[in-house]
Amino acid sequence: MGYQPELIGGHVALDLVNTVSWRLDDARWIDRITSTSALADWCTAVGLVYRPGTLQQVRTVREVVYGVLLPLARGNEPAKADLSALRGLVAGALAEARPKGIQPLDWEAADLPAALALAAARLLEHEDLGRLHECQDGDCGWLFLDRSKNGSRRWCSSGDCGNRARARRHYQRTHGMGA
Ligand SMILES: [Zn+2]
Repeated sequence: MGYQPELIGGHVALDLVNTVSWRLDDARWIDRITSTSALADWCTAVGLVYRPGTLQQVRTVREVVYGVLLPLARGNEPAKADLSALRGLVAGALAEARPKGIQPLDWEAADLPAALALAAARLLEHEDLGRLHECQDGDCGWLFLDRSKNGSRRWCSSGDCGNRARARRHYQRTHGMGA
């Protein structure tokens, strides 16, 4: 059985950063794309073409993108160093890209890491960052675009982190630990 990613981010750049689970818990932190076969499975799931020999670069892009998006999801400014790291990746990707469309301007990336860097740039250019949120589970760390009408989404997936939170509240209530 290969890697079957949960694509809950609402954007490929977010599905990329969500290939690490339990980001905010050092004991449980786990990278789901540590092998080329896992990366190939992920590419198939998101509809990107897998290229061999790109695993390390993809993971580098992922961590740079997370470094910029996590503070934004929390309503903070990203650090200048993280922004320049992203700028470096996007500039490199653009330098190698072929024009695909003029209006709207669109680039075909030369390889998979470049395609992911450009996807992150598109997210920042085109998406409403007010809808960029972090899962409310204290250890999860997954990011998503809340596309619900009233902006009420709190969990990466209600069947997962949402259920755990409900179970925890129930436990605390029934054991007299307050809400
Ligand atoms: Zn979550």
